[in-house]
Amino acid sequence: MKRILVTGGAGFIGNHLCRRLLNEGNYVICLDNFFTGLKRHIEDMLDNPNFELIEHDIVEPVDIEVDQIYNMACPASPPHYQYDPVKTMKTSVLGIINMLELAKKYKATLLHASTSEVYGNPLVHPQQESYWGNVNPIGIRSCYDEGKRAAETLMMDYHRQYGVDIRIIRIFNTYGPNMDPKDGRVVSNCIVQAINGDDITIYGDGSQTRSFCYVSDLVAGAIKMMNNDKGFIGPVNLGNPSERTVLNLAEIVLEMTGSKSKITYKDLPSDDPVKRKPDITKAQEILGWKPEVDIKDGLKKTIEYFKSIQ
Ligand code: NAD
Ligand code: UDP
Repeated sequence: MKRILVTGGAGFIGNHLCRRLLNEGNYVICLDNFFTGLKRHIEDMLDNPNFELIEHDIVEPVDIEVDQIYNMACPASPPHYQYDPVKTMKTSVLGIINMLELAKKYKATLLHASTSEVYGNPLVHPQQESYWGNVNPIGIRSCYDEGKRAAETLMMDYHRQYGVDIRIIRIFNTYGPNMDPKDGRVVSNCIVQAINGDDITIYGDGSQTRSFCYVSDLVAGAIKMMNNDKGFIGPVNLGNPSERTVLNLAEIVLEMTGSKSKITYKDLPSDDPVKRKPDITKAQEILGWKPEVDIKDGLKKTIEYFKSIQ
């Protein structure tokens, strides 16, 4: 039985990860400051003797003896990470230093949740891990993008300088049940608006693309990366290469919910990436991982979830 720390374990991806690690027979410590995480997403695990909840902020050091750390803590939705950009940067930079120190002390393996945002508004398409990105260092998304880039730098430097065992995953847009309906991301917004009969808000003309990955696929990829025995530290892209426009996503949600909601167009936020699609060759060849869940199957489960919490 491994002792595994999941920071951000009460968040969207974190709660799915905790549940799966628990089901696989591990002792799971969920650490969260509940900035965007929700107690109801981890409630079903609280009585499990192999599950522990620690309310803590990763900006502050912590001392827990563990074998593995998944560092998921960081608000991921643009409205949330832009709410207190200085805090977002601290969470990425001070947070990863605290986790790296912990991994160094206990010789634990640390997997860090990085993001496709390290590619910024990419000039290479699809994005391969070798691409260095096109990131605005002073814009409204920079607190997140540059924070995540700095965290990757610190991961690599602790690895080279102190031999810390690391894994870097770059997560592309992920969706599924247990997203917060108020999270502000496009999948949750579209579904909640469609269910309530409210206008569907499309930012810009909706021609920007994203590639949406269902959460169980993402979690499976993260666990494979953590436990790979090939000495592969990454970075590795984890996402679903099936690319579509944001407008097309809205149309699918409208069709699947049978909603009469109208589409309305709002201003496109600055630095919103025009295109995004992962090249997952590395994940396929080295980890033997690829996503299995088709967009309609994933959306069906996500729509059912949002209906169930209405
Ligand atoms: P989320 O906002 O749902 O979850 C983040 C969790 O971290 C929340 O429970 C929050 O309370 C917690 N948290 C935030 N700051 C903290 C701090 N300082 N100390 C302790 N806990 C803190 O986001 P998510 O979608 O679950 O994303 C999880 C991770 O994956 C994040 O690091 C995010 O950057 C990364 N990621 C997610 C996506 C995606 O599409 N969901 C894409 C790329 C990267
Ligand atoms: N978006 C949208 N309507 C919404 C929320 C988001 O059109 O209600 C757009 C957003 O501008 C971006 C895309 O959908 O182009 C994905 O946004 P999200 O916040 O989900 O993730 P991002 O990839 O921008 O981090």
